[in-house]
Amino acid sequence: MGRITLDKVRKAFGEIEVIPPLDLTIEDGEFVVFVGPSGCGKSTLLRLIAGLEDVSGGEIRINGKDATNVPPAKRGLAMVFQSYALYPHMSVRKNIAFPMKMAGVPQDEQDKRIAAAAAALNLTDYLDRRPGQLSGGQRQRVAIGRAIVREPDAFLFDEPLSNLDAALRVGMRMEISELHKKLATTMVYVTHDQVEAMTMADKIVVLHAGVIEQVGSPLDLYRAPRNKFVAGFIGSPKMNFIEGAEAAKHGAHSVGVRPEHLAASPSEGTWKGTVGVSEHLGSDTFLHIHDTGLADTITVRVGGEFGLHHGDTVYLTPQLDKIHKFQADGLRIE
Ligand code: ADP
Ligand code: MG
Repeated sequence: MGRITLDKVRKAFGEIEVIPPLDLTIEDGEFVVFVGPSGCGKSTLLRLIAGLEDVSGGEIRINGKDATNVPPAKRGLAMVFQSYALYPHMSVRKNIAFPMKMAGVPQDEQDKRIAAAAAALNLTDYLDRRPGQLSGGQRQRVAIGRAIVREPDAFLFDEPLSNLDAALRVGMRMEISELHKKLATTMVYVTHDQVEAMTMADKIVVLHAGVIEQVGSPLDLYRAPRNKFVAGFIGSPKMNFIEGAEAAKHGAHSVGVRPEHLAASPSEGTWKGTVGVSEHLGSDTFLHIHDTGLADTITVRVGGEFGLHHGDTVYLTPQLDKIHKFQADGLRIE
């Protein structure tokens, strides 16, 4: 069981309130991602759950029991960090065994858990190597293995893939998702990368300056962002925002249109502009359009092969049912 409840939890460092009182429930078995820009309080929130920081107020409950003052080792949670924090002089086997040794788990039980974790993480052939003889991705898998053998009620991950190169990150993202399906254990995962959040989460918690902006499934957040912050943070390339007379036509202070919800044509459409930089990704092209009189740049996604070039005139047409409307304070208008 791994149900975690935060009840008016707040955190201040000295005079500075990094997390104002915050409520959140993480259900047993859920994959929850905390996402937000650097410095928004993601790690602090995770460390409060882990017990590595003391709360300045409020209550943390794990499986319904008050854990606010329970020491980290007794909370039944296992944390995986960006820096793998492996012992360099110990073999993979000994690194994975370490928390069980500390907890006095009998040797045969240790061996069983190591074998199972190694199998789940494709580490079986590497158990006798030292961390220095492994790739970054394998090292991170060892760190995850060390968490698995503790059989925690929940895993806490703090940007575990940030040290890996782009291709490895994609692979590890899928491995961690697979692992979640296999173990069916609660996972709380911190990242600044909205793509990781979108691809891995059952539930995303968007944080901004210590405040929860929105909680929802990836598609909830994509389809109905509660405010302009979430609208601009979730989705890549970013949503375009337009203010002024064009927004007023839609009864809004500003409207948002995602690049994938705009059609581009050389001859006809709603908004006229000039093609600036084109980013060719092969499958898609992102055109950056200027001189529309609506915003400095409007980004539009077109097919891989698109016959317009820098300086050409282009017409854009938004899908009207995909336009997001916001009021002056940034809140969504339904
Ligand atoms: P994130 O993980 O989202 O990048 P953090 O949780 O690390 O953000 O930090 C949130 C804010 O709290 C930042 O402004 C950071 O400078 C501040 N902070 C974090 N830890 C401490 C600390 N031990 N003492 C003082 N300020 C801290
Ligand atoms: Mg952090």
